[in-house]
Amino acid sequence: MKARLLREEDCRPSAEYPGVWRCRACNASGSGPKLSRCPKCTSVVGQRTGTMPAGTVIDNPDAWKLVLMGVAVPEDEECKERAGLNAAELAVRQAAQERVRLGIAPGDYQAFDDGLMVGYNPDDGSWKPGPNYDEAAWQERKQNSPIIIVEDE
Ligand SMILES: [Zn+2]
Repeated sequence: MKARLLREEDCRPSAEYPGVWRCRACNASGSGPKLSRCPKCTSVVGQRTGTMPAGTVIDNPDAWKLVLMGVAVPEDEECKERAGLNAAELAVRQAAQERVRLGIAPGDYQAFDDGLMVGYNPDDGSWKPGPNYDEAAWQERKQNSPIIIVEDE
């Protein structure tokens, strides 16, 4: 069963998708499949995840679950049937996944879906304006926001 990733995804380091590691004890470094000890001095090392690029085809009996999560699209009939979603349902799942990835607060889901905002400014948490930005909607949201926003006077 195959599904194709819509975006770059982190994964367990492997030969195909190596993860960078660095040893603090002996300063050795490298990249490759999952390892927990330095090959030179056997100290415990930290390792970054591997990265699968967008468009990677996952061949796995559970690939349909990625489709349900809005992370991938079916790449064969078996996956399409098991996921059991039509194009509109797929789009809803993918949009929901995108909101989560952008860190949109649940209270702003409607504003995001309506194009009022596309995310948050890191300095003050204010809305990054979307194509349908409306100052009045932002002012109302700000009043009702549980997040304290500091503004210069
Ligand atoms: Zn080492």
